[in-house]
Amino acid sequence: MGLLQAELTDITSLAFDAIVNAANETLLGGGGVDGAIHRRAGAELLLACKEIGGCPTGEARITPGFRLPARYVIHTVGPIYKGGNHGEAGLLSLCYRNSLALARNHSVRSIAFPCISTGVYGYPPEKAATIAVDSVRSYLTENGKEIFETILFCCFQERDLKLYQQLLKGP
Ligand code: ADP
Repeated sequence: MGLLQAELTDITSLAFDAIVNAANETLLGGGGVDGAIHRRAGAELLLACKEIGGCPTGEARITPGFRLPARYVIHTVGPIYKGGNHGEAGLLSLCYRNSLALARNHSVRSIAFPCISTGVYGYPPEKAATIAVDSVRSYLTENGKEIFETILFCCFQERDLKLYQQLLKGP
């Protein structure tokens, strides 16, 4: 298996060193993947997030995974898609890069990303997947491929899995 993988699964089921949460700026929980992560992690996660006190779009924060099988949750805030001319691509790319940097600082070897911003935040899935794969690849080129053992693009919809499989086939 390669370093970069894609799989159709529930991110809350993964016994990875870290799973990434597509959070909102309040970090106080929401729907979609955020809701699923908070439900499974238990109430302690919300308390930890309250203590952090929010996170600007494009940045990332880390908490323990509490009752999740994952050791850590890395909370990152994707951009709301407003047509593509509001810096969305740069912000989405920063979500991936900042999450990887935080993971690296915590000696994380296995990390799973959801398809950030492609749910209620409305980012077109194909554009978002391309940014996700390009951002992770360039981070690894700049920082070293040996930092991580597994980087999983965790897809929740068949549509996304197909996109990632296609992108990961490329050079
Ligand atoms: P955003 O607000 O960043 O758009 P959403 O949670 O609405 O975040 O959607 C982001 C992605 O997470 C979507 O592709 C959605 O299908 C996916 N998703 C929802 N629940 C889960 C889950 N349990 N595991 C993995 N991905 C999930």
